[in-house]
Amino acid sequence: MKKITIAIDGFSSCGKSTMAKDLAKRIGYVYVDSGAMYRAVTLYAIEHECFKDEKFDSEKLRSMMGDIHISFKFNPETGRPDTYLNSIKVEDRIRTMEVSEKVSIVAALDFVRSEMVTQQQAFGKEKGVVMDGRDIGTTVFPDAELKIFLTASPEIRAQRRFDELKAKGQEASFDEILENVKERDYLDQHREVSPLVKAEDAITLDNSHLTIDEQNEWLMQQFKLKIKN
Ligand code: C5P
Repeated sequence: MKKITIAIDGFSSCGKSTMAKDLAKRIGYVYVDSGAMYRAVTLYAIEHECFKDEKFDSEKLRSMMGDIHISFKFNPETGRPDTYLNSIKVEDRIRTMEVSEKVSIVAALDFVRSEMVTQQQAFGKEKGVVMDGRDIGTTVFPDAELKIFLTASPEIRAQRRFDELKAKGQEASFDEILENVKERDYLDQHREVSPLVKAEDAITLDNSHLTIDEQNEWLMQQFKLKIKN
């Protein structure tokens, strides 16, 4: 059966990765979490003191870009890929509030984006990939056969993120998360390079009131319709 490229874009904490990962597993495709890559670069920037005294030194990060190597390794226990930064597993460390608060600043830099986009395109060159992010259907794979644009209300998204962090035993305040969700929405939509916009040929899904099973079924139907044509 012919393989296609599936791009899932949308706002922060919408459940894009849950949806993308589940579909990839069901249809035997590779899943790539592009947000994890921007998070890994952000973690590197934090650990190498690019953020100091409330200031961000983007030139310092630029000079270190060649030292940042991101890869994924499938984890059979969780059924999803773990993110590695320079061969060290950083899957948990890239999901902290500290990284979430800074990632949209790092992700707005043109030299970070061009490097990540090149790597993402390489991951998907054989097709048979489900990738989620903000600019997958517009910049990374503008020719993707199936494009989804996922959205949900900020309050619902913040509640999901809150539950996720609590389940992992991480400290979290609902108000802080809601603030972060709204701020990232704003920064992602208003940056100059590859802002978050719906691709013209993307199908929108508001999953505010859908269960995970319902959204998975909906996506499976979209996939079946595409490969039939
Ligand atoms: O998807 P996730 O919320 O983990 O992504 C973290 C951040 O990375 C987003 O808030 C956004 O700023 C950035 N991002 C991006 N382009 C992508 C994926 C993520 O700018 N393709």
